[in-house]
Amino acid sequence: MGIRIGIDLGTTFSAAAMMDKRKGVPVIIPNSEGERITPSVIQFQSGRTIVGSEAKEAYEAGESGCTSSFKRSMGDDSAYCTIGGQSYTPVHLSAIMLRHIKDEVEMVTGEKVDEAVITVPAYFYHRERSATLDAARLAGLNVKQLINEPTAAALAYSVDHWRENARIMVYDLGGGTFDVTLIEMKSGGRVESIRTTGDHTLGGKDWDARLAGLIESKAEAEAGLSVREYPSLHNAAMRAAESVKKQLSSRNTAAVRLSSEDFGKYSTEVTIDEFNNATLDLIKRTTTLCEQLLSELSLSWSGITDILLVGGSTRMRQVSSFLKERSGHSPLMHVNPDEAVALGAAISVWSPPPEYNEGVAGAISRDKPPKSAGKVGQEQKLQSALSVVSSDVCAHAMGVIAVSADGSRYINKTIVPDNSRIPVKCAESFHYYTSEGGSNELEIYMLQGEKPPLESEVIGKYTVSGITHDPKNNPAVVSIQYSYDRSGLVHVQVRRQGRDVDLPVKEETVPKDMSKFGNPPEKVKVTGQPQRLNVVMAVDVSGSMNGYPLKEAKKAMCHFVDKLRQYPNNPQAGVVAVSDRSIVVMKLGSDMNKCKAAINSIEEEMAGVLNGADPFEDIRRLLRNTDGKRWGIVLADGRWDDQVKAVRRARMCHEEGIDIVGIGFGTADEKFLHDISSGEIESMFVSQDKLVESFGKIAREIGSAAPKKTGRFDAVTAVSTWRATDESGGGSPLTGSVHSSR
Ligand code: ADP
Ligand code: MG
Repeated sequence: MGIRIGIDLGTTFSAAAMMDKRKGVPVIIPNSEGERITPSVIQFQSGRTIVGSEAKEAYEAGESGCTSSFKRSMGDDSAYCTIGGQSYTPVHLSAIMLRHIKDEVEMVTGEKVDEAVITVPAYFYHRERSATLDAARLAGLNVKQLINEPTAAALAYSVDHWRENARIMVYDLGGGTFDVTLIEMKSGGRVESIRTTGDHTLGGKDWDARLAGLIESKAEAEAGLSVREYPSLHNAAMRAAESVKKQLSSRNTAAVRLSSEDFGKYSTEVTIDEFNNATLDLIKRTTTLCEQLLSELSLSWSGITDILLVGGSTRMRQVSSFLKERSGHSPLMHVNPDEAVALGAAISVWSPPPEYNEGVAGAISRDKPPKSAGKVGQEQKLQSALSVVSSDVCAHAMGVIAVSADGSRYINKTIVPDNSRIPVKCAESFHYYTSEGGSNELEIYMLQGEKPPLESEVIGKYTVSGITHDPKNNPAVVSIQYSYDRSGLVHVQVRRQGRDVDLPVKEETVPKDMSKFGNPPEKVKVTGQPQRLNVVMAVDVSGSMNGYPLKEAKKAMCHFVDKLRQYPNNPQAGVVAVSDRSIVVMKLGSDMNKCKAAINSIEEEMAGVLNGADPFEDIRRLLRNTDGKRWGIVLADGRWDDQVKAVRRARMCHEEGIDIVGIGFGTADEKFLHDISSGEIESMFVSQDKLVESFGKIAREIGSAAPKKTGRFDAVTAVSTWRATDESGGGSPLTGSVHSSR
């Protein structure tokens, strides 16, 4: 048995840590030179690759063959640098860095590394996360998961400073990124990430650049040296900037000395006030993001317990002072900003895997904003960090390219909103028309962020094949399951209704030219056979239905059955009665006379008096493994006892491609009816006398064979995006007309 480690793969520095299981705390694993952190700098020399301090020194001395800051370009497939005729992508370079860390850990501890958790900025997109995993794979690491850096920092902080219900803002300003995350310490040793935001183009490097600019303008004003005249001045100023900045973290003035063959020597001084003034807008950008995060949670600065500073750039004194001025809190520097992230990752290697949060596409809710701070418990030390459990949220919404309701443009339809708890999976079903001899392939374009398709991050193009053409079963009902795994990576799985194997999904490179999604979508012609209709009617038979209401309901249902006879392809109907129990009065069948007899056999209170049950399990069971269009019509009177559960089960129907329409009267709850309905047909709230009429309306609407483009949720219906491409030009256009279940 080897060891499990946490790795902070930083832009400027990296670190590794593991649990000291005897003491129950995480510890840093120093490198073979005894340093606790290793610069993320690589130098390629002929035949030799140098990583860490030596490479950093070479870099600072201006030697050739050095490369650094490649994490900032993580996810770019193009070469980050070309050295000695060899090109390296950020993945290659990160793999070299990770391999170095692994080798050093194995050398220092004398043990093999079995498993690792690697940290990434919360703001990383799928592309960057996936590139990080590729790098780890190349480095020969077995990765348990990726975790967000702020969550890791909070985990490390929680070990010595456990306070139940404390709400901590983690302010992480690193070399290249800024993240702000709200974390809560919950009972049972849970460290939960609530919400996160950030800017991954803002970090210490931007302060360096400002400082370099300041030095350049001083050189021009004081010595008449301009960058136009002496281009090397810029590089010299850039090289000096970081160390000047660091000096200003402990002193009020810092000396600057520049020299070059080009302009000779130049020296000056920079004061802390000059530095702070030149970077005021940068620090403001961070606090604006903090305040934005708070306002999204309906919190003010007073609603948080503490601010925890992590990331090397929080050593700049302006960070604490500006935050204190804005927030009234004295920020904590209780964790070593260079080490906290790796320490937290080491804790999470031992956390049990979190369970998937499941739901229907578009219906996953973000975490609720925390209400009040609650009673903040005494600060204590945890017995053992091994018992801490953490959970993360996704910084970006997950979406799919779809066609707007009016068919006029492409939209980004949100599947999972940002800041949903991960891991999360959700499904949606839709109709897909196949054609004989066509390729019958489905294209899905996944996005991150909530901007229109062309402005969002395109995660990938997924092509689904294996949807066989079956004229009797056209359109095919296809169900897509989207997920964010616990590392924040997106996955897509596709199944055909009623089958239990996944269809092949091929991830393809995203086309360079996505401009077609900026144009109006092609009009879709819906072709194909009318579908067979399968309808289960569920009627509330609780006490409140006694007498006239039940009589009217039965009349309306019989009337509906008569209408159903007029539809092609042998429609089928089933009947369920529900109050304290759900009873199947008739299974799905095409004998409409038998169905009417079954409806007429329904008696008052045959399933109890109250509304303890819901019919959705039975509806789902009766419609399982049937071809064609599947409907559940639910007639409700009064309030049901467990509406939350009923809605959840109704959504499972939607997920399986079963459409539900709710009809209510009496004291039924309108919102509840809306929630159980899948949206293909709007739920209805009617008086008893109008029941026959409303059933007639439903019969008309569900009878029109093709999936229709009406109803609320077609606003987010993907049509041509999901059309199979039939480039050959032969055959009828294949349409993937989608009914999305919210
Ligand atoms: P990352 O995780 O992105 O690698 P770090 O958290 O290691 O970043 O922070 C690196 C940044 O911190 C660099 O921009 C560096 O200049 C800055 N930094 C490090 N020490 C100091 C200091 N004493 N004063 C100001 N900035 C510092
Ligand atoms: Mg960092």
